[in-house]
Amino acid sequence: MKTNELEGKSALVTGASKGIGRQIAIRLAEKGARIAVNYNSSPDAASEVVETLTDSGAEAFAVQADVSDIDQVKAMFKEVEGRWGNVDILVNNAGIIDDRHLIRMSDDSWHRVIDVNLNGTFYCTRAAIRKMMSKRWGRVINIGSIVGLRGNPTQTNYTASKAAVIGFTKALAKEVASRNVTANVVTPGYFETETTSVLTEEMKDYWKERTPMGRFGDLDDVAHVAAFLALPSSKYITGQVISVDGGLAV
Ligand code: NAP
Repeated sequence: MKTNELEGKSALVTGASKGIGRQIAIRLAEKGARIAVNYNSSPDAASEVVETLTDSGAEAFAVQADVSDIDQVKAMFKEVEGRWGNVDILVNNAGIIDDRHLIRMSDDSWHRVIDVNLNGTFYCTRAAIRKMMSKRWGRVINIGSIVGLRGNPTQTNYTASKAAVIGFTKALAKEVASRNVTANVVTPGYFETETTSVLTEEMKDYWKERTPMGRFGDLDDVAHVAAFLALPSSKYITGQVISVDGGLAV
């Protein structure tokens, strides 16, 4: 449903060309926010998202940046701030996996996952936070994972990155609370996206069986929680980890 609760607010959603990020962008736009659709390697998918948003009456544009590259992050913020002055709502959603047992984990697999999931979150949040603090309004919404709470074999790199995002968010929430800036983590369970397309049908069934709701989530299940955290009325929620996982983490 279209509302105007976020009218006049600028949102940057990283990794918004696909999957969960795309759906979060759609939800934020529905609430009236302007959306910068960050992508890394999928310009056509990002253009499709921008078209979907603008067709529905929102203001949106695509901005390329690998969030693990500090120079690209700086250039992205220059572009967004050049248009809109500042980022009011930052959704750190961009994330990757590179699964293997620790015994076979290469330095590259380790660093790449930490660089995108954790360092990308750090670079983007640091770039956004000063203006949020001086405006006395801001929302940092980080997309974690149930795996960051519980661990998962073959995912020491991914687990470490997502657990660290939780710690990062809690510390940040305490730092910026007095400026009316909130920081929260949404931890999804399992959703059908390109990332989870690498799972075999047996693995998918395994996770569905362990999920009390017996299925993967709909993308909107997680997107609407992220959008809820962005609302002005969510101003007293900070430092929280909110699982959207059909009960899997219980
Ligand atoms: P997805 O559909 O595979 O999409 C990944 C998105 O991240 C794409 O838009 C991709 O952009 C972007 N991206 C990847 N590397 C990037 C980089 N270096 N810089 C900027 N953008 C980058 O992924 P998803 O499943 O929706 O996952 C979104 C978030 O949810 C991730 O943080 C993931 O860890 C988390 N999550 C997902 C699940 C799940 O079940 N799907 C569960 C728990 C947590 P390009 O295609 O343009 O490169």
